[in-house]
Amino acid sequence: MPYQFSCSRGNCQFLVRSSSDEEVERLVRAHVRMTHNTRIDPVDVDRGIERVELA
Ligand SMILES: [Zn+2]
Repeated sequence: MPYQFSCSRGNCQFLVRSSSDEEVERLVRAHVRMTHNTRIDPVDVDRGIERVELA
């Protein structure tokens, strides 16, 4: 089951999806660092990761 995270900062439309939650977390952290010039708390990453079922 894939994992996804959608960034909710401002009008950001960033969405990442992967079969690996570790990869999602890594990509989210890189995104927040590069795009928003800040860090994201690992707790917020965990909280924001959703499991999605694909049809
Ligand atoms: Zn973002």
